[in-house]
Amino acid sequence: MVFRKKERVQIKTPQQIGLMRIAGKVVADTLETLRVNVKPGVTTGELDAIARECIYGAGATPSFLGYYGFPAVICTSVNEEVVHGIPGGRVVNEGDLVSIDCGAIVDGWHGDAAISVIASSEPLPAIQQLSDVTRASLDAGIQAAVAGNHMGDIGSAIEKVIRSSGDYGIVEDYVGHGIGTEMHMYPPVPNYGHAGQGLELKVGMVLALEPMVTIGSPEVLTLSDDWTVVTTDGNWASHWEHTVAITESGPQILTIQ
Ligand code: MG
Ligand code: MG
Repeated sequence: MVFRKKERVQIKTPQQIGLMRIAGKVVADTLETLRVNVKPGVTTGELDAIARECIYGAGATPSFLGYYGFPAVICTSVNEEVVHGIPGGRVVNEGDLVSIDCGAIVDGWHGDAAISVIASSEPLPAIQQLSDVTRASLDAGIQAAVAGNHMGDIGSAIEKVIRSSGDYGIVEDYVGHGIGTEMHMYPPVPNYGHAGQGLELKVGMVLALEPMVTIGSPEVLTLSDDWTVVTTDGNWASHWEHTVAITESGPQILTIQ
């Protein structure tokens, strides 16, 4: 993940957070449409076409398309793929774990979120649990995104859920990020950390929290397509993400319908 070198966090007004909520809703609507279309037999390229229609249909622009040359609207990462998978001809099979990452821009403001979907009505318990733990860790991180807390409180909350849930790996090579007039902004938001440490969280900050969790080792590598990140040991991974605003009244998820 690439961060622009900025020393200061972009602080948003309540009005600007309102604009980001519009972008966030496009992302959430798109992901919900994709979720119900993740079935055995669908290709990741077909999912990308659906996302393209949803995003442009809403009058928004995809954040990912053309980003450092990325060739698609969404990232689709299947099974041992962790993040940044390129949609294409890969057919989703029964029981596959498909992580979908989606970003959209409205009036210059970005929304960014990801879900993991299992292509089965009877998922393997271990795979369902992997996704559930990842999602629960995201929820815990969001609850810690409170003004006066520190960045380490978010990471620590995420990490605690994952560590207490079993033998999972927390991917450290990729982290969450600030978001606003660009998709990836300062500060980085690690999925691990020490409570009370790091940058102090303030009202008006908007952060994308995105735990990436593996079964087993957290080691990852990038395939020769220069994008797709996979686990080194071939075990499966889950990715959940929300764009979250820190407000006077607590954390507000912007990537909701
Ligand atoms: Mg994302
Ligand atoms: Mg992100």
